Parts: sequence; structure tokens; C-alpha cells
Amino acid sequence: PGRAIVRIGYDTRERIDVVVSETQRSLLWIFLVAALVGALLSVLLAHAVVAPIRNLAQHAGNVAFSEYDQPIAVASSAEEILVLTSSLNKMREKIKAHIDELDSANVSLDRKVFELRTLFDVAETMNFKSYSPELLAYILDTSLRALDAEWGSLWLYSSESEQLEVKMVRGAGYEREEVPKPRKGQGIAGVVFESGKPVISNEVANDPRFVTFEGQEEFEHKIRQIICVPLLVDNETIGVVNLVNKKGEDAEGFDDNDAHLLAALSSQAARALEHAKLYDLAIRESKTGLYIPRYFEARLREQITQARRFNQSFSVLITDIDHFKKVNDVHGHLIGDEVIIKVSHFLTESLRENIDIASRWGGEEFSVILPRTDKGGAAAFSERYRRQVETRSEDKKAKTPKVTVSVGVATFPEDGSTVEALMQSADDALYAAKRGGRNRVCTAS
Ligand code: GH3
Ligand code: MG
Ligand code: MG
Repeated sequence: PGRAIVRIGYDTRERIDVVVSETQRSLLWIFLVAALVGALLSVLLAHAVVAPIRNLAQHAGNVAFSEYDQPIAVASSAEEILVLTSSLNKMREKIKAHIDELDSANVSLDRKVFELRTLFDVAETMNFKSYSPELLAYILDTSLRALDAEWGSLWLYSSESEQLEVKMVRGAGYEREEVPKPRKGQGIAGVVFESGKPVISNEVANDPRFVTFEGQEEFEHKIRQIICVPLLVDNETIGVVNLVNKKGEDAEGFDDNDAHLLAALSSQAARALEHAKLYDLAIRESKTGLYIPRYFEARLREQITQARRFNQSFSVLITDIDHFKKVNDVHGHLIGDEVIIKVSHFLTESLRENIDIASRWGGEEFSVILPRTDKGGAAAFSERYRRQVETRSEDKKAKTPKVTVSVGVATFPEDGSTVEALMQSADDALYAAKRGGRNRVCTAS
């Protein structure tokens, strides 16, 4: 009795349910946070790894598109990325060096091709043009074009005057009345002639080798740059070629390439000059400088063909010194020679340059072709010459006596239409002049 039953109970099931649900909730949170942190970490990690690689890829792309100048810089703490960056940079530098080398090789190759083409053109032209002033002008014009210069001149040294004398000038805007004649070592041209070495002066105003000549101020004022090379024949300097000012006000000036090309072109010019000289020596008689009869006859044949084609007339004349045997007898052979030279000068000074042709036909006989000249014109010319000899041949200083000449004139086609017939007519007319009393002009009839 009095007993009671107390039931102490614990609802285990309910409790377990609560614990399970609480644990589930916690696990869910942990899972969510872990997932969030994982995602965040992976994003950060991906960024840290991929960004430098993307950066590198972009730089590599630049190199692929020929941008070699910008150094590759990628910030990363990863050892591998840094190594890759450095390797890529080295590769870029190497490619750049190769490309630069290739570029400069291309430039010098272009220059060589240009030089060769220029020289080839000149050499080819030299095969077709005779050795004439025209050829020299062509070479000088080519030099001006090749070096892009404004003005050019060719100078030859005269051993008589001991000065450089200008023989040809090309290019516009530098005209002047009188051209100075520098001596050996005087001015840039004189220095080049004396040393046989080229000179480039790209600042003429400050170059002590550049000297000024009186009365040349206006011309010299225009000169900014000069390139001057020697004209060499068999290692002997015979003159210089001088080019002035690169075209364009702010042009930098001439360089070694220019000197090289100009020297090559000048050697062609020297060759042309030498040929002309040799050729001239071959066709001229040494004492008087007049043409030899063979050359005269060839030109006469040409003249006949031309006159026939264009229906023109022209004249020839033969002139002979009167009583020349007596000159030799009285004054001796040497004075006789002097007289012949003197009389030949009276003849050449009255000729039209590059038109009339005079030869030493025999000992003291000369012959002349007067193109496009009729009988009246030829007789007037002969009379002027006859009078010159008569009045000027006596020279007390040179001890040459007074002499006179007789002249025979014949005209194409009326006095002969072949070389032989025409010269025979002129000779007949000369004989008539002799017979008529000498010191006179006779025309063929
Ligand atoms: P003519 O008026 O008839 O012409 O009389 P000539 O005495 O001049 O006679 P010819 O023309 O026949 O004589 C030419 C002379 O000129 C003969 C020769 O001895 C001389 N002679 C020819 N060539 C030279 C030369 O180069 N120098 C010198 N000193 N004499 C020459
Ligand atoms: Mg004679
Ligand atoms: Mg004579």
C-alpha cells in the first residue's frame, strides 16, 4: 500500500529524431559553406593560373603578327610561367635580330641590283654610242639620276695650264658665266685630283677643303653637299667628277654607297674619254692636229652620200704654201715646220667647229670640206684665209718669214660627184692659182 509506480521515461525516438534533424541541418550548412568556399577558391585559383597563360598567349600572337619590338612581361609567381615568359622573350629577340638582319640585307641587295642595272645600262649604251661628248653627257646624267643629285660636272687636268678645266656640266639652276680653274690641291676638286681619293663633304660651309673663288659667291652659296671622285685611267688621275647637293632641301647628303657607284660610273667615263683620245690620236696628224687624209676621205664620202640624199651642195678646197722649198732652203727645216704649223692654225681658227673638216693633205698642203657651202661661200672663206696667212704669217719672235698660200675650190655636184673627181677638180683649181701667179684663190669651172 501506498505504493506508487513512477515511470521515468525518456522518449528516445523523439530525441533521436531531433538530433538527426539538427545534424542534418548542420551538415547541410557545412556542405553549403564548403561548396561556396570551394567554388570561390577554384575561381581564384583558375584566375591565378589562366590569366598569365592567356597573357602569354596574347604576346605569342603579337610575335606571330610581326610585332617584335614590345618586350613580353607577364606577372606571375608560378615558376613555370616565368620560365615560359623568359623563353618566349629570348625567342622574340632572336627573331627580331634575324628580321633586322634580313631587312638590312634586303636594302643592300636592292642597292646592289640598282648599281648593277645602272652600270649595265651605261656599258650597253657605250657599245652603241660612239665615244663622243654625247656619251659623256649621258654618263653624267646617269650619275645625277643614280645619286639623286642636282648638278654635276666633269673636269680634266690640263698639263699645259696646270689647272683643272671643266669639260662638261649637267643639271639646271647652276648656270654661271665663268667657271674657276682650280690648281692641284686647291678646293675639293683639287684635293681629289691630287690624292686620287674620293671626297664626300656633306657640310660644305664648315669644310676647310672647300675654297671660294672670286665672283662665284652666287653659285657657291647654293652648294650644301659635294661628292667628288677621281677620273682614273690606268691608275693615273686625269680629272675629277663632281656632283653637288642631294635633291630635297633636308636630304642628309651623300654616303659611301654613292661614292662607290659614282667611282664605277666615272671609270666608264674615263674609259670613254681615253677611247676618244686614242681614236682622236689615230685620226689626227701629230704636228698640226689636222685629220689624216684617210679620215678626210671617209668623211668626204659620207658628205657626198648625205648631200646627194638631201639634194644639197658643199665645197672642198686644197691649199698649198707658195714657194715652200725656198723657205726650207733659206730658214731651214725646223722653221719650215713652224711655218706649216702656223699656217694650219690660220686655217683651223676660221673653221666652223664640229662642221668643217680639215686635213693635212700632203707636206704643206691642206684640204678642207665645207658642208652646205656653195662655191661663192667657199671662195669667200678661202679668200679670208689667204689674207690671214699673207698678213699674219711673218713672226719676228718665232723667226717665221712671211708666206702666202694658193687655194683651189671645187663644189659638189657641179665639179665632181665622187671623191676622186671632186678632189681632182680642186687640185686643178689650185694648179690654176699657182699658174696665175700664186697667193690667190681659184674656183673650178
Ligand atoms: P709651189 O708654190 O709651187 O707650191 O712651190 P713649193 O716650193 O711649195 O713646191 P712644192 O709644194 O712642190 O714643195 C713642197 C716642199 O715642202 C717640198 C718639201 O721638201 C717640203 N715639205 C714637205 N713637208 C714638209 C714638212 O713637214 N716640213 C718641212 N720643213 N718641209 C716640208
Ligand atoms: Mg706642195
Ligand atoms: Mg708649195
